[in-house]
Amino acid sequence: MANQTDTNSGFDALGERVSHAFSKLIYVVLCVLLCVLGYVAKPSAGSEASGETMPASSVQMLEYNKGLEQVARDDDYRTTYEIFVSSFCDSDADGIGDLNGIRNTLDYISAMGFDQLWLTPVHPSATYHKYDVDDYLKIDPAFGSMEDYEALLEDCHARGIRVLMDLVLNHTSDTHPWFRAATDYLRELPNDWEPDVEYCPYFDYYHFSRTPQDGYVQLEGTNWYYEARFWSEMPDLNLNSEAVRKEIRNVLQFWLDKGVDGFRLDAVTSYATGSPQENVEFLSFLTKTCKGIDPDCYLVGEAWTDRSSIATLYTSGIDSLFDFPFADSGGIIAQTMNGSRSAYDYVREMVDAEAAYRGANPDYVDAPFYTNHDTSRSASFYSSDEGPVTKMAYALSLFMPGDSFVYYGEELGMEGAGKDENKRGPMYWSDNAQTEGMCSAPSNMDEVQMKFPSLEAQTKDDLSLWRWFAEVIRVRKAFPAIARGTTEMVDGVCDEGVAAFIRRSADDQDVLVVMNLRGQATEKDLSTVADNLSLAAVLGTNDESISYNQGKLNLPAYSIAVLTFGKE
Ligand code: CA
Repeated sequence: MANQTDTNSGFDALGERVSHAFSKLIYVVLCVLLCVLGYVAKPSAGSEASGETMPASSVQMLEYNKGLEQVARDDDYRTTYEIFVSSFCDSDADGIGDLNGIRNTLDYISAMGFDQLWLTPVHPSATYHKYDVDDYLKIDPAFGSMEDYEALLEDCHARGIRVLMDLVLNHTSDTHPWFRAATDYLRELPNDWEPDVEYCPYFDYYHFSRTPQDGYVQLEGTNWYYEARFWSEMPDLNLNSEAVRKEIRNVLQFWLDKGVDGFRLDAVTSYATGSPQENVEFLSFLTKTCKGIDPDCYLVGEAWTDRSSIATLYTSGIDSLFDFPFADSGGIIAQTMNGSRSAYDYVREMVDAEAAYRGANPDYVDAPFYTNHDTSRSASFYSSDEGPVTKMAYALSLFMPGDSFVYYGEELGMEGAGKDENKRGPMYWSDNAQTEGMCSAPSNMDEVQMKFPSLEAQTKDDLSLWRWFAEVIRVRKAFPAIARGTTEMVDGVCDEGVAAFIRRSADDQDVLVVMNLRGQATEKDLSTVADNLSLAAVLGTNDESISYNQGKLNLPAYSIAVLTFGKE
């Protein structure tokens, strides 16, 4: 950044002025916001510079992309930030992240370019993760009040950020009043009596049986068994029950009336274990019910499965399903970056995924992601990487079309692998644990050694992972075809280490994206693709420049060029 010294001294002066009134965290967030906004506000410097000498800058992308206009659209092609609520930001110094903490960080989230939030469950629950709900119509007091949730919705909407509620419908907690009523009834029921649903409707809310079977757990003190696939304390709901569906309708209505913009649906392949058609039917019920209440409501389902099973679930009409085959340490993205899969393959997989999903639901919106609260954090995937491989892997995810999801802390390269708690550590705002807003680690979390610095440190480094993330999202949002178009392989340019594709869009300018995914510089001849290309945006991981001259594209190690097609 050309005027970094001035900008930083501006921050310091501002810091002194606000330090009495604001917490350290708010200062950090403010610095980040001003850093990004200050950067946006600088005059444009030649994004039309195709064929010209690159501006002198240690980090070319920061100069080259700064005139890019951000396109905000009220559609489902978002860039979404997943927040594990208890570990993100604590507003009342009890160590537990909460809703008001999230409200305090919305400037940060917005400045990063995120325009949708997925909050992990906020309903009352005894566990730290809250994926076992005690009451679908309340907010867990550890996270705040209903008023706090409503205020969060209002603050997000004022910034154009949508909020997705995590809805866990496969099972409840075993302390949910429905399960308690059913099991109290069964404990009293004489052995030779049949249950009477008229007398105890909650018997029908779960799957009970007098016969032991796979996936069932014995109800203590009785000869009854209940279905509990994940854990004995998470009894599976009977989603075919009309009474349960009526309850669910009320839950959807309640939250949509509050202004929730949509739902992330937990464990959709487990709704009816082993029966894809029943899962399709239930997803179809949820989709129709939600759209009947609010036609703009958006649904994304967690189907942790393969492409053809995901395609089957898209026949329900659901908007989005997480694109699991690309994610996690063994997924397409990680394989592409560790060299066990070629760059060419990455493009072919995108083309194949689009065809499979579009065939099942022409209006589908893919939901690519790289990691989430159930996977190891990405920094742990490549132990010898000092940054570039992790950066390019995230670009592979963020350059996929659809609604792209990023797990909190991944923009900092936080570490965390092994047991679940390690994947859900405190957001690394600062390396000073006393900084206001910092959360306590989940109990049982191991000591995790961070590889990359805290947010506070990364905002001061133009080559940081955090800066890269902000820049990739900025490019994604400057060219609507990246998120909204369909992928066309550019055969002659793709090879083992170079991914090249055109994103075609009916409504927006097509773009050609060329990514060098390997550690050596490369030159590509683009004259066979088109003779009217211009270099529209660049993303680099070192101080070498990307250039495009007379059809020849020079890509340094681990870098990306976005080109547009000139007028005919
Ligand atoms: Ca708290």
